[in-house]
Amino acid sequence: MNAEIISIGTELLLGEIVDTNSAHIARTLRDIGLDLYFTTTVGDNQARITQAIDIALNRADVVITTGGLGPTVDDVTRQAVAAATNRPLVFQQALFDQIAARFARMGSPMSENNRQQAFIPEGALPIENPVGTAPCFALETERGVVISLPGVPREMKYLLEHAVIPYLRERFHLTSIIKARVLRTAGIGESAVDAAILDLMTLANPTVGLAAHTGQTDIRITAKADSEAAADAMIATIEEQIRARLGEYIYGLEKETIEVALIHELSRLGMKLAISETGLGNRLSSRIQAVGGAEYILSGVQQFETPEALYATLANAQELPLEQLSIAAARRARESFHADVAIAVIMRTDATLIGVITPGETRTRIFRFSEQDGHPFTWASTWGMALAWHWLHQQPTP
Ligand code: ATP
Ligand code: MG
Repeated sequence: MNAEIISIGTELLLGEIVDTNSAHIARTLRDIGLDLYFTTTVGDNQARITQAIDIALNRADVVITTGGLGPTVDDVTRQAVAAATNRPLVFQQALFDQIAARFARMGSPMSENNRQQAFIPEGALPIENPVGTAPCFALETERGVVISLPGVPREMKYLLEHAVIPYLRERFHLTSIIKARVLRTAGIGESAVDAAILDLMTLANPTVGLAAHTGQTDIRITAKADSEAAADAMIATIEEQIRARLGEYIYGLEKETIEVALIHELSRLGMKLAISETGLGNRLSSRIQAVGGAEYILSGVQQFETPEALYATLANAQELPLEQLSIAAARRARESFHADVAIAVIMRTDATLIGVITPGETRTRIFRFSEQDGHPFTWASTWGMALAWHWLHQQPTP
């Protein structure tokens, strides 16, 4: 079983509005386990919509159209479905009564164009539309099913959820479910994650995909199966393989943040954190302070508006190589506040310097802006926390 979406509207075709309907329908189909192979976009042109439906019926079992069901002359989806399936449009008294009742409730007069909306292809099942006036329908043909939904996103979503999905599940015995699990990595670049699991990313089921965020990368495993238990088992097998390769960088699951993971590790080890942030506003400390329990592990924060202001507090700052500057800043914060671990971030115009000092070692990174994904402050604070977390995570509980 597979489906195709056809989104209809010249504004969509020309990029004047973004096709959020297709994205929503696609996700919904995925959730019920109906495969989607094509999404087509076509303007408000009857011949081309007819052609798009015809092509879709040749290659898909279920064709879902959105848009072009309104009362105006450029709304021609109804005519196109009729043409593509070789059926006349026929008047449906029940649909007409619904439209008329709705206009009566709104207290506005009904036009001849609205009467046209009560015509649907012969044999189509009307889908009641309590949230709008455009009547929708499903048409079962020997070549497949065509379901036509309105373009207004609110109406489309309502009808999809309340009428179309129950219909598809029942009609095509769709019992399979889709489950996903997100493994969150930090302290490793996206391309390194990609290289480590390249082979797994070509699997068909479960699928493995990456989503890069600012300074942090998610690995999403998605499985399709007949039961939740079967999907869980498939995910577990892949997760095990991913953990064998990248486990040391996986700090959490789903929506967990690096700040929460960092605080968790500090509390587990009974260690205190100090922060030195330069040219970063208070981005790093405020992210940590926003997490519950931070007051117990954060022993102090040093903030400098500019690198020069920081260097004035460090011995021999001018002679230190770049890799040593952030370490010197971290060391100073660690000593001032008698902390165990310190993170320092220095935002310079030419580079971002990150240094972490722990009881066991020092770590340092230098980033150029081009790598920083447009949000350098978030990028830098995430990397600072990730480097500290990575060391802490490897320490045994005392
Ligand atoms: P109406 O009765 O309102 O005319 P319709 O079924 O004819 O409904 P369209 O005229 O195609 O729908 O679209 C109505 C509005 O819905 C558009 O102006 C646009 O704002 C929005 N819309 C239509 N299609 C999409 C889409 N694919 N994604 C997002 N928004 C859409
Ligand atoms: Mg319209």
